[in-house]
Amino acid sequence: MKYLDVHTHFKKRALSVYQADLTAPKEDGWYSMGIHPWDVTENWEIQYKNISAIASDSNFVAIGECGFDLIRGIEDPEIQFQAFKAQLKLAYSWGLPVIMHQVKGLHLLQRMLKELQHIPAIIWHGYNSKPEIMKSVQEFPIYFSFGSAIFQEKSSALKSLKMISLNRIFFETDDVDIKIDEVFERSSLILQIPEEVLADQVIKNWNSISNNKIDG
Ligand SMILES: [Zn+2]
Repeated sequence: MKYLDVHTHFKKRALSVYQADLTAPKEDGWYSMGIHPWDVTENWEIQYKNISAIASDSNFVAIGECGFDLIRGIEDPEIQFQAFKAQLKLAYSWGLPVIMHQVKGLHLLQRMLKELQHIPAIIWHGYNSKPEIMKSVQEFPIYFSFGSAIFQEKSSALKSLKMISLNRIFFETDDVDIKIDEVFERSSLILQIPEEVLADQVIKNWNSISNNKIDG
């Protein structure tokens, strides 16, 4: 069974998108790279050039994690906004999905979705917000990736998982020391859907937004 881990900070996982460091691109397996909102500076355009430089690497399968974090990071959210916007445009033009980090920046995301003419596929990683928020952006190509939060009984992630349209679902381990199999197993129990069906669905979802296809 192929379990895709769409976002992990651990190397050498079987079928996964490894979160690479901006300064050390070129990885053995698939990886994502981007300017994390924590790392956005006023000189983000210099950081941005690092991403552009690896466009042709076939293992580079997603831009990210990028997005908003209004709790941690540069004080002026407008700078995060501009850096994220540039990365979304790049992703669209290269046909790559985006791995989005999103903390307290929903209003900025909404503004972004209005401002941008072309929106790439966005995977909202570590989703742990209310189902209502998920619904409010359903007209856009936004996908939701669930990880360790679904093991917490009262989490918003768990509530949202129960409500999600399956064609928008992904799973991840992020920086938490759990196995992706455990995340699939847990979701299978909650959703009452066999693990194989979930695994196939995730592969289908990935193949629908990425040119780097996975054989089912
Ligand atoms: Zn992460």
